[in-house]
Amino acid sequence: EVLRSADITMYRAKAAGGNRYEHADPEADTRAITRHGLTNSLPRALQRGEFFIEYQPLVRLSDGQVNGAEALVRWSHPMRGVLGPDQFIPLAENTGLIVPLGRWVLEEAVRQAREWKFQHIDGRPLRVNVNLSPCQLHHPNLVRDTVEVLKEAGLEPSSLCLEVTESALIGADESLLKPLRELADLGVDIALDDFGTGYSNLSNLRRMPLSTLKLDRSFTRGMQRDPADPVDIKIVEGIVSLAHTLDLAVTVEGVETGIQAEHLRILGCDTAQGWYYARPGPPEHLHTLSLADAT
Ligand code: C2E
Ligand code: CA
Ligand code: CA
Ligand code: CA
Repeated sequence: EVLRSADITMYRAKAAGGNRYEHADPEADTRAITRHGLTNSLPRALQRGEFFIEYQPLVRLSDGQVNGAEALVRWSHPMRGVLGPDQFIPLAENTGLIVPLGRWVLEEAVRQAREWKFQHIDGRPLRVNVNLSPCQLHHPNLVRDTVEVLKEAGLEPSSLCLEVTESALIGADESLLKPLRELADLGVDIALDDFGTGYSNLSNLRRMPLSTLKLDRSFTRGMQRDPADPVDIKIVEGIVSLAHTLDLAVTVEGVETGIQAEHLRILGCDTAQGWYYARPGPPEHLHTLSLADAT
């Protein structure tokens, strides 16, 4: 049902056409065989329900409250154990399977966010962030599908944030920005993920229908020590001031220590995510955390 036959046909056509060249590097061959095996088992994995989602809390720096979570997909492979997204998302993108997989992640995460709402005792809504790959962004049904998923689950659009990477939006023309703008008009938040790793033209930020910049981990590493790296401090200060001028919130990734969190809070960052607060985990875990910080 989730996996439409058209998607499988496209996947097969691509799988048959790719990887035709022989080479002599045995390690590369092993990698290619592994890749090939994983690529071949991807569509079945979706049908068999081998994917699952871990959630990592998003913490408001001003008061330490959990106000949402990012959905991160994993593959529980029957032979290889749990695989991280870096091991299969690129394969899913190459074969087009990312579209049905991404749709599944969205459905699952939105359903979960709806459930958190019911469980919540003080009525604070927990929002959910979902990653969008460039293929999904280019797909003509993005807006329709997203609206449908939200409606079916009964979740208001403002409880969903879609994360789009900077590189996916490089040179983005109107055709790419239009669906994002439609979603933003409906109330869905759009975050620019991995900000600072691509080459965004800063003036382009104004054209994009964004509500949040997610600052890449590389910028926050220099704040693990005390005193923090003075250049990194200046850079983050500059980005926060630019973002706030444009009415964008700043989320920082990869916060691993309390010192880092404190630096970033003082620098005016709005939200933090990282191992210091919690590793990605099962959805129940988030519920416990958010209740704990409310007391
Ligand atoms: P991302 O969107 O930048 O996600 C953040 C990554 O940083 C996650 O890796 C997370 O586990 C990791 N992380 C979080 N806190 C810390 C920390 O304090 N220190 C360090 N060193 N790492 C931290 P993960 O789960 O392996 O995901 C990797 C990437 O895979 C994600 O990067 C995202 O680009 C992609 N991805 C994950 N789920 C999906 C999905 O459903 N769809 C798509 N298209 N991409 C996904
Ligand atoms: Ca992300
Ligand atoms: Ca990121
Ligand atoms: Ca990243």
